[in-house]
Amino acid sequence: MITFKFPLGLSLECYVCAKNKAHALQSIRSAAKNSTSVENKKLLEKEFVTPEVVCKSCKVQRYCSMDHLLEDRPEHVELCRVLSHLLSSQKLKHPLLHRGNISSPEHLQLVISQLKLILRVKLQRPLTPREHHVISNPAICEVCFKTEALLKVCKDCAGVAYCCEDHCYQDAKKHTPKECRTLAMISSPFRQLDCTLNLRSFHQSVDMRQSHLIDAFFKATTLKIDNNPQNIAVCSSFSGIASACLALTNISWVSDQYSAVIVYVVAATEEHLLYFQEMHLRFFFLQYQSIQNLDLYFIGPKLLPRESPNKKVFRFRGLVRTVVKHYFSETFTAFSKSMKVDPTVILLLEPDFINMDTATEQLVNQLPGKRNGGVSEFNWENCLGTILRTYGVPICYTSATRFQAMADFTAFDSMALFHNIAIERVYNITENPYREILPLYNFSDWHNERIIYANNYLEVLFTSKNRI
Ligand SMILES: [Zn+2]
Ligand SMILES: [Zn+2]
Ligand SMILES: [Zn+2]
Ligand SMILES: [Zn+2]
Repeated sequence: MITFKFPLGLSLECYVCAKNKAHALQSIRSAAKNSTSVENKKLLEKEFVTPEVVCKSCKVQRYCSMDHLLEDRPEHVELCRVLSHLLSSQKLKHPLLHRGNISSPEHLQLVISQLKLILRVKLQRPLTPREHHVISNPAICEVCFKTEALLKVCKDCAGVAYCCEDHCYQDAKKHTPKECRTLAMISSPFRQLDCTLNLRSFHQSVDMRQSHLIDAFFKATTLKIDNNPQNIAVCSSFSGIASACLALTNISWVSDQYSAVIVYVVAATEEHLLYFQEMHLRFFFLQYQSIQNLDLYFIGPKLLPRESPNKKVFRFRGLVRTVVKHYFSETFTAFSKSMKVDPTVILLLEPDFINMDTATEQLVNQLPGKRNGGVSEFNWENCLGTILRTYGVPICYTSATRFQAMADFTAFDSMALFHNIAIERVYNITENPYREILPLYNFSDWHNERIIYANNYLEVLFTSKNRI
């Protein structure tokens, strides 16, 4: 999925204001409590200003003032030039009108995808997160899709806009307080921050099968989620370890204290490593209190090389716990050729087997006259075959959307058919009770899931030889 964990400013918000807020929050967080500067505090308390200044050249980027427009010029100029050339050469009033007036949400999705492809080719580089944002969430009326003269922007979330009072009123049923709160979380700057909180005391465990992330997190830490953005972000980061804990409930011997639990995180990325900090490991030992040894194997070609193995020993609940982290910056297939494959559980966090994530890149690379643009095409087929041959081991994978989850399962299933391997499904793609709680925009909205959550869907598979 093309999702960004660090969105910066929506198109209905002045980009420079959003950036300043994020920086202010960051310096407040890193500074000592009593040294918060008045200036930063003021920036954070600054009220939402409808961004009425529209960049005249591209018609998409909006600002609160001319000052901020000028300040953003150096960063915005590349995208702006391409868009403005498109407007003049095609005689358009707005870049999204390249197939006439927009008539439906489907039509809007289509023109957004096409515009992104045009931009990718003209810019000769992938779009940056902020460019994705401004194109994917255009400032247009929610009701009639008009692109000009927006009168009203919802001040609470900066996520929806209307051309007139009437259309604002009409949309009230759809834009519920709940949707508004969710959209506000997406545009709030707190997600920018690295989660620096390191929780040390953990209290009550839960029955992983009966609980969910917010409940398990509260019982473990006694931290309330409420509307505290920092707690929301910290709680969300427990999604990876909690999903692993849930997958492990499918194996009966895991309570045996003398064995090490061995978790393979396959197709691991640098981002996945943030799910396995010490506080997350303490949460793991809280749920599985008799386990003393945990071995984590991070295997993936996108991992940067680092010291391996890395061993950590700490006392938790009266027992010495040992966690060994192994890092392999290679594919699982390469790994399996040199190492004995013997995990307790295999974890794949949003693997994207059919490469929907890189669909635009692939299209661009197939254009005539284009050499293979150096995008490393990760060969999933070999990797899937290797994963499927770890018979009897639960293979747990998560996906952000239902569509992606089904596509990933189809990839597994067709590969299993090819190798004559039987698959037993435990969850049949259910909503993962341990999904992240921070919402994200889905930039390839094919199936009406505009707002999504990392690890939203869960499947656990067991494989065995000989399909009947
Ligand atoms: Zn501004
Ligand atoms: Zn512009
Ligand atoms: Zn309207
Ligand atoms: Zn709102």
